[in-house]
Amino acid sequence: QVPLKPGRSLMDWIRLTKSGKDLTGLKGRLIEVTEDELAKHNKKEDCWICIRGFVYNVTPYMEYHPGGEDELMKAAGTDGTDLFDQVHRWVNYESMLKECLVGRMAVKPIAAPKEMSSTLSEEKKQLNGMLREKKVLSASAKDLTPSYDWFQTDSLITIVIYTKQKDMNAELVIVDCRDKRLRGEIIMDEHSYLVEVDLDGAVQDDLAVNIAEKIGKVEIILKKKDNIHWKMLGQPLESHNTFIKRTDRGLFYRKCKLVSKTEVTHDTKLFCLMLPKNTHLRVPAGQHVYLKKIIAGTEVVKPYTPVLPFLPLDFKEPSCNAGARIYLMIKIYSCGLFTRALDHLQIGDYVSVSNPEGNFKKSQVQTLEDLFLLAAGTGFTPMVKLLNFALTEVSCLRTVKLIFFNKTEDDILWRNQLEQLALKDERFEVQFILSQPTKDWVGKQGKICSSLLSEFVKRSRKDSKVLICVCGPTPFTEQGVQYLKDLGYSQEEIHAFTA
Ligand code: FAD
Ligand code: NAD
Repeated sequence: QVPLKPGRSLMDWIRLTKSGKDLTGLKGRLIEVTEDELAKHNKKEDCWICIRGFVYNVTPYMEYHPGGEDELMKAAGTDGTDLFDQVHRWVNYESMLKECLVGRMAVKPIAAPKEMSSTLSEEKKQLNGMLREKKVLSASAKDLTPSYDWFQTDSLITIVIYTKQKDMNAELVIVDCRDKRLRGEIIMDEHSYLVEVDLDGAVQDDLAVNIAEKIGKVEIILKKKDNIHWKMLGQPLESHNTFIKRTDRGLFYRKCKLVSKTEVTHDTKLFCLMLPKNTHLRVPAGQHVYLKKIIAGTEVVKPYTPVLPFLPLDFKEPSCNAGARIYLMIKIYSCGLFTRALDHLQIGDYVSVSNPEGNFKKSQVQTLEDLFLLAAGTGFTPMVKLLNFALTEVSCLRTVKLIFFNKTEDDILWRNQLEQLALKDERFEVQFILSQPTKDWVGKQGKICSSLLSEFVKRSRKDSKVLICVCGPTPFTEQGVQYLKDLGYSQEEIHAFTA
């Protein structure tokens, strides 16, 4: 992220796109763009970028790009899809850049092999070399492709997914059934398997998911609305029965109802969202979701990390889906576009919540002896589930130390609960460090630095298995990681939370 000039916030961008100004220079025309044409527009003052076959004139957007002009220029005059997906595939560029749309890449059929007839099927056409090649699975991944089957009784429909993977668990299964549309996704490491159909009949608002963990069998059980025989499970939708890389699957959202909003500090609130009854979704420790809202006519998406409702020692997620909740601890910035909109939500209002994402794996914690959590401000949020998981499920754990950086005492999130936890569990210790304390503060002060880290991050015994998790504002996280490396910790011993 780079600091933006005044008057260049996301809200200012939205205003500009609504002003009626011609942002493409084409007076509202859409054109077909050839590869040669695209390549000509490669300067800051005349910059076109192709994303998923659509070409945008991003010159007017340059000064508004949170990642800076140089980042955008990396894709100038070329296909920026991969770069875009690497950095922020969750950003809804179609909505953000709709006024910058120049047109589509021109379709150019690939030369047909001689033995084939001259008529080319749709599949054989390619978007002028600009469409990303279809991701082909490696042979080993193909062997692991799950399969599904279904059967019915008078009142129930059961869909069985054979994942061929041991250690399936509830966090790896995401099911949504809305109207007659069923979407069941199984997460398998870097891949995702999807069952997606328009069901043959109507079902009740009450689905169940059973998982035979050891044999990797997942059952989705739906209750029929009417006890009639279904001829088929339903019409397959476009991505039905596909097994692809997770990152190639679009983000899926469902609308969740705000059921409570409570104060945590002067500027931070705990939002409790209720998942729809026909949704089965658990957010694993260390992962985030995206919230989506339409603000001034533009879809805006921001990441947030679910926490627990409080910090007990033995918190367990409820086992049933009905009324499952997601808790989000969110700081409201006085000039923040999204957080101000969230703050205005009333109880009973809806907000769209995506599937979980993130590259943290619980296996990083399962065999740990020492866990250090370096959190700054709301960078505390991923630490909440992590702390709970480590203290309740990691048997070899000896110490967990949270080093919590804040500006002032009033900014410390869940201070009381953390202090209580430290009293209850002798493995847990918390250290608060303030960067702008009042003169009454007797505790530690300062910002993240090498001396503070060497004082607080110490193995409980020589060669103990350690993990240090870092989360906060980007400079905090980057500096933290660098200091830790300088202190001799290896890449595998450090985890930085980022988008
Ligand atoms: P914007 O309109 O983008 O910014 C307006 C002003 O607010 C800025 O000028 C600045 O003064 C201030 N501001 C905005 N963003 C930041 C920032 N990131 N750091 C410091 N100052 C800022 N936030 C939470 O509160 N809880 C979470 O659980 C959480 N989880 C996150 C998980 C991930 C993976 C990431 C990348 C971020 C997370 N964030 C979280 C931050 C969140 O996504 C937004 O950036 C934040 O809510 C601000 O959005 P906004 O639209 O209100 O502010
Ligand atoms: P803040 O402004 O209140 O700052 C908290 C502390 O962070 C400060 O007291 C200071 O010690 C440290 N800090 C701030 N700026 C720093 C800098 N430039 N260099 C070194 N240290 C610095 O923090 P906040 O407003 O609560 O912001 C929290 C941040 O955490 C946001 O940027 C948010 O995006 C990020 N976050 C990321 C994730 C994630 O990636 N998974 C999750 C949650 C929050």
